[in-house]
Amino acid sequence: MSAPYRIRQYGDPVLKQVANEVSEIDGALVRLIDDMLDTMYDEPGLGLAAPQVGVKKRIFVYDLLAGEDPRVLINPVIEESDGEWVYDEGCLSVRGLSWNIVRPKQVLITGRDLDGNEVSIEADELEARLFQHEMDHLNGILLVEHLDDEQKRDAKRILRQRADAGDTSVGAMGSELGLRLPDASGLSLP
Ligand SMILES: [Zn+2]
Repeated sequence: MSAPYRIRQYGDPVLKQVANEVSEIDGALVRLIDDMLDTMYDEPGLGLAAPQVGVKKRIFVYDLLAGEDPRVLINPVIEESDGEWVYDEGCLSVRGLSWNIVRPKQVLITGRDLDGNEVSIEADELEARLFQHEMDHLNGILLVEHLDDEQKRDAKRILRQRADAGDTSVGAMGSELGLRLPDASGLSLP
């Protein structure tokens, strides 16, 4: 079976929009979450936020055990964060690219599960990174906004190579990065 959803890619406006609070957990929401999990497993990915499938709701699904432990958080909030941790972070919406990004090492996140129960999770390292990454999606933030200047230059070089290879999506991706890539021939390095 193919995945129910196509993952929205860099340049899609929905990825820059702030998602809305979920007010009611009903049958439609349960189906959405099932479909999000199928889509995530199909990639495969460790996590997936609703805006990545074009749905502006504050929901993400995740599974740190590769198919063994499907979970969802509804209306999540990061209550506390602490420490610093570097991780080579990628994103299904920025396909094929990843960067070493520094973020807090630990977070305390709260939210609701599929039954509407309040949950509170203390997370460390990869789990904490996943929560921060998916929370960003709910706030319209992509990982490229966490890049330092050197990483942005690196990203620009890779995007230019993609342009040379004839990838027509590169122009839109470049403008998302704020790197002014009007077209493949109009690149100017800083
Ligand atoms: Zn992502």
